[in-house]
Amino acid sequence: MILEILAQHQPGHPGGFYGFPLPLVGIVLATLLVSWLVSSTLKRRFDEYSQIPIRMTGAQVAEAMLRQSGINNVRVICTPGKLTDHYNPMDRTVNLSEPVYHTNSVAAAAVAAHECGHAVQHKQAYKWLTLRSKMVPAVQIASQLLNYIMIAAIFGMFFLGPTTIWIYISLFAVTTAFAIVTLPVEFDASKRALVWLENSGLAASMEHDKAKNALFWAAMTYVVAAIGSLVQLAYFIMIALNRR
Ligand SMILES: [Zn+2]
Repeated sequence: MILEILAQHQPGHPGGFYGFPLPLVGIVLATLLVSWLVSSTLKRRFDEYSQIPIRMTGAQVAEAMLRQSGINNVRVICTPGKLTDHYNPMDRTVNLSEPVYHTNSVAAAAVAAHECGHAVQHKQAYKWLTLRSKMVPAVQIASQLLNYIMIAAIFGMFFLGPTTIWIYISLFAVTTAFAIVTLPVEFDASKRALVWLENSGLAASMEHDKAKNALFWAAMTYVVAAIGSLVQLAYFIMIALNRR
């Protein structure tokens, strides 16, 4: 986020906060504040729901959901760290963080089932996941180039002229589009997780609501990221248009 402020920094820009345009500082601070609120709520809910026991560990939930979804070529593995859970389509592994893998709680079951939701998406060639995967190389290049422009701008190697700004905007648009395409992928994985948890009878209705709540807050972190990115993009476009 800070990178974008620096890249936008124009030498001799009047007013603002240490030379940074005030509206951008406002946007960035508001995004940071909202994402902090969302992630601290998420963390609180997860800690709370980690205390509610069910009869299977995260690893057992993942194995069961994969098996019942007719998926035999995906491995469930334990990965170090906290909140490091993810599905890797390259080597077809559901990676569960240590606490999720070993714990039998509502929170662990929700996370494990969500990651398996991605494996089911992969198997069914769910269109948003396919699109997202296709975007990955372009997004990696765009992020690299955004960093280079930022470094060049910091060292004052070139003034951010109209062409550079539009290049910056195009690259930023790629990362914003990626953040937006991520949303249906995440919501759909959670939906699949909740349907499975419901059908499995693993979680009683009260626990089911808690799993739903935990997954809702997890999805909100992606929503905040996408909105923050979109607002910044709109701001950059406005700046570029005004400078003509
Ligand atoms: Zn996910």
